Amino acid sequence: METPENEVFRDSIGTINEDGKRNWLYPKKPTGKFYDYRKWVSYGLLAFLLAAPFIKINGNQFIMMNVLERRFNIFGFPFWPQDFHLFVIMMIIGVVFVIFFTVAFGRIFCGWMCPQTIFMEMVFRRIEYWIEGDRGKQIRLDKQKWDAEKIRKKGTKWFIFAVISFIIANVFLAYLIGSDQLFKYIKDGPLAHLSTLLSLIIFTAVFYFVFAWFREQVCIIACPYGRLQGVLLDDKSIIVAYDHKRGEKEEGRALFKKNEDRAATGKGDCIDCGQCVQVCPTGIDIRNGTQLECVNCTACIDACDQIMEKVDLPKGLIRYASEDNITKGNKFEWTPRLKGYVAVLAILLGIFSGMMLLRNDVEARVLRLPGSLYEHKGEDVISNVYTYKLVNKTIVSIDDIHFKLLSHKGDINLVKNQGFSIAKEGLAEGTLFIELETGAIKGDKERVEIGIYSGDDLIETTTTSFLGPRSYK
Ligand code: SF4
Ligand code: SF4
Repeated sequence: METPENEVFRDSIGTINEDGKRNWLYPKKPTGKFYDYRKWVSYGLLAFLLAAPFIKINGNQFIMMNVLERRFNIFGFPFWPQDFHLFVIMMIIGVVFVIFFTVAFGRIFCGWMCPQTIFMEMVFRRIEYWIEGDRGKQIRLDKQKWDAEKIRKKGTKWFIFAVISFIIANVFLAYLIGSDQLFKYIKDGPLAHLSTLLSLIIFTAVFYFVFAWFREQVCIIACPYGRLQGVLLDDKSIIVAYDHKRGEKEEGRALFKKNEDRAATGKGDCIDCGQCVQVCPTGIDIRNGTQLECVNCTACIDACDQIMEKVDLPKGLIRYASEDNITKGNKFEWTPRLKGYVAVLAILLGIFSGMMLLRNDVEARVLRLPGSLYEHKGEDVISNVYTYKLVNKTIVSIDDIHFKLLSHKGDINLVKNQGFSIAKEGLAEGTLFIELETGAIKGDKERVEIGIYSGDDLIETTTTSFLGPRSYK
């Protein structure tokens, strides 16, 4: 099917030319109200991103994503492999929250909070502007032959990019393996941990590749969230949008003539200056309508507002607006779809809070030894053998641990002595026997409840099954 004329722009992306080669973008340096707001939000988030793995709360790293050991700390709260279900629910809550926000406010996350945008636009791009100058100067420099000036500017830029990529890689590693571990490796010297050093070099190379070369392609080609826009956005979503009704009017957009009375000419308010295209970091023309490539960075809003000011027309030709707002003048409304997301979020948050309240500092598991049967010990006692596993999720050691039967009269005998300790964030495993008097057994398989004590304090309870002969039913 042939693409309609007004949709032809969707057949290609701004970063690939007709020969299929990379079309390098030189976005003009944005200035304006939104850019200033974004700068402050970005600095705050950058400070948070760089500091979070080095801050500790009650001895726990503020944020840690140790995927290899399946240990995660969120806002200083530790999640163990045993808490993985909690972590998964939290991730689902995060995804529903992002979907809800996207349906309501479009890709606001991409423009204001995404680490890719923040590092690209507020760190690497700003260094580029500082060393190479704005759009025009960058284009000239790239066309220029490799003379001393070009070597100096490009060399300085690439060196600084590499240093920053190395710093980001170290912070990334601190998120992955924990900052304590990272400091230990630094102290031991890089050659003492060659595999970690190799990971660090690979991360540095990846970050350098992304920010020095791949750039906006991450948002356009690689990011799965960007691809979801088509199904998440609707005419009520508030996005960075061009007011096509006002911009085009009956006569369409046209260049501005000095002292003209624009309203009387029937021409649209868009003076076709191209500034919104020149500032766009993904190389699109917002006047074509909502596009997958738009990361809602607001640079075109600032650029257009400045032009409107110069030609004495009202600002907001490009603004945060929904399609319904532009075509029908509708304000934001709580649609059934949004209400549905809020309801799902509330349910998930309720489940998560309940599970957090029920979560213990100690995780205990007592399981019958696979394949084992009960044993008679003398005339009146039946014994079953078990393995146990205790996890101390706290950052202090737990001492004088012993087991007691809570549901039946009987004994618990450990192969090693009761009264042992588990180190902070440690694990204790072993074998134990549960012995019940035959009079206390009501069936051939029943649940027994076990209390785990530290001194006199009951710190956890767990249940397991106890086998006995059928005749005791
Ligand atoms: S910056 Fe505004 S006036 Fe200029 S081309 Fe873009 S929409 Fe039209
Ligand atoms: S169209 Fe505007 S908001 Fe979207 S990426 Fe380009 S400059 Fe940013």
